[in-house]
Amino acid sequence: MTEVTANDTLSTDGRIRCDACPVMCYIKPGLSGACDRYANEDGVLIRVDPHVILNRPGTQEVVRFLENGADWDGNILAPAPVVTAIGAGTTYPDYKPAPFIVSSKIQGVDMVTVVTEGIFSYCGAKIKIDTDRHLGLERSIVRAAGEPVGHVMTSEYGSQMLSLGGVHHLTGSGKKQGRVTCETLLSLCNGGAVELTIDDGARVVVQANAAPIINGEPEQRMRVGCGSATIGMFAKQWHGHVDDVVVVDDHITGVLSEHQAGKLLGMAETGIRIQGRRSTPGRYFEVADPGTGWGGTDISDPLSILGAFDKKHARPGIRFLMVSTTGEHAAYYELDDSLRPREKAMPDQLAASVALIAENCEPALCSVLFMAGAGGSLRSGVTTNPVRLTKSVREALTKVTCGGAPVYLWPGGGITFMVDVSLLPKNAFGYVPTPALVAPVEFSLRLNDYERLGGHVAELRSMASILSQP
Ligand code: SF4
Repeated sequence: MTEVTANDTLSTDGRIRCDACPVMCYIKPGLSGACDRYANEDGVLIRVDPHVILNRPGTQEVVRFLENGADWDGNILAPAPVVTAIGAGTTYPDYKPAPFIVSSKIQGVDMVTVVTEGIFSYCGAKIKIDTDRHLGLERSIVRAAGEPVGHVMTSEYGSQMLSLGGVHHLTGSGKKQGRVTCETLLSLCNGGAVELTIDDGARVVVQANAAPIINGEPEQRMRVGCGSATIGMFAKQWHGHVDDVVVVDDHITGVLSEHQAGKLLGMAETGIRIQGRRSTPGRYFEVADPGTGWGGTDISDPLSILGAFDKKHARPGIRFLMVSTTGEHAAYYELDDSLRPREKAMPDQLAASVALIAENCEPALCSVLFMAGAGGSLRSGVTTNPVRLTKSVREALTKVTCGGAPVYLWPGGGITFMVDVSLLPKNAFGYVPTPALVAPVEFSLRLNDYERLGGHVAELRSMASILSQP
């Protein structure tokens, strides 16, 4: 708990007015404010959660892996303590200096770290869900508790992408939608699981670093590649054991005998015909509709994507394998005397190749990236000349972190960053009922650079004084 030095005011009945955000709660003795971050403890406004200092001396319990290592103290983290903004508190309005402006010496260099729990109305989460399964069409609405909280974005290689939150959902579409959006973002950013439904699509449970649960089924594998890539990777394993292979994929279905990989291996034409749009030899688009069946299509019978075999090249006894990009679905066929495929028991060597595809798939996970803009009024808590902070970040003189975790900074204007929420300590995020998310942000730079950009140098506190806090 941190005692707050904000200009909270004590009323005659013992209530304190918290001024850490625009809500300006009156908090009764023994109670907390609307966001549960601040409380009135015996007439003193306190920040309820502990202020997190990483690598604080004496607090890091690390398992030794060199039991007898005489010159190693068991510490695997950086030697210097790292002041994060988690639990540091917020100042409002923004011209007030940030809650902690800490000076320290790192390898002989005078450094400053400015930390604050930023209140973000302009924020959201980008979600990557490792699955081939069709979750919904791009631009479809994503809902939580029935409220729109985002939309489906362009899918990426082996993953479906969602964009959640943002200022329009938080502020622009009614009170309930704003509240549900805020709750959804908060839960996801703090490592919780959230059930989302996609209009005309799937129901999916999302949690950072956990497997997605799609329509009640936990996803197992992220595909090894598209159908064409799978052909390219495993063509040699199939050569000599089968006459053709079709790798069924919603995006690019591959056909070994036509594919360049098959050509280089000297494979003969089999007369196989795919009902799809031929892109280049052995690569077909739109063989079926998207779905949750084979290779992210809607099919459960792989033969449904085949046309009649070309009699010019086909012959009875032709052996072919059909497999999905995860190895989850596979079937083996031979052509009968009338050139119709008949399913047969999978030969051991082909079963081994299917197992190899599955082995080469990575575990399916959800990734949650928090994205926010720290290039606005928050900068005034760092410096009296905000644009100099932006320039300093752009020139790499100031390092931005989020709860101590590295961020990706977008090019262009502002200080727009993304961070993998799984790199932050649990429950590092908070909220205020405006509604907006509260996220820790730290700015670290050399003392002389801080002075040059008009920093609040009068507010500097030593690292020792911070560490001596309970
Ligand atoms: S919502 Fe939280 S931060 Fe805002 S005034 Fe109330 S207690 Fe303070």
